Amino acid sequence: MRCIFCRIVAGEADGEILFQDEMTTAFRDIRPQAPTHVLIVPNSHVSSLEELLDTDSSLLVRMFSKAHDVAEAAGIADKGYRLVINNGPDAGQVIDHLHLHLLGGKCMPPNGMSLRWKDEMA
Ligand code: AMP
Ligand code: ZN
Repeated sequence: MRCIFCRIVAGEADGEILFQDEMTTAFRDIRPQAPTHVLIVPNSHVSSLEELLDTDSSLLVRMFSKAHDVAEAAGIADKGYRLVINNGPDAGQVIDHLHLHLLGGKCMPPNGMSLRWKDEMA
């Protein structure tokens, strides 16, 4: 069976799609970690950054460009936002379909890299 993000892209699974073109789709994260938490994905199934760079690196530019468009539409482009890719198991990637997290709508601390490591969690 196709992955959940492939199914959202195809309209076969529920997802609040904000934007879609022939290469990318942006939809709201189901468990938002910020007032604006949107995932930007390639429409085709690509599991990792390495795979994407090997197949079509122009997609990466498109994903970042779409993230900017989504931020503008959400009215947060001027104030700023964070873009994150969890790439692979050590990064905590859960869904095996490359996705760019767009997080914003709230002020983060300066030098904001608050990371939690698995081996330091209770
Ligand atoms: P990652 O840890 O980078 O793989 O993040 C996966 C993200 O996908 C998490 O933030 C989840 O909340 C989100 N997610 C999982 N299932 C869905 C879904 N059906 N629709 C929207 N977001 C989802
Ligand atoms: Zn997929």
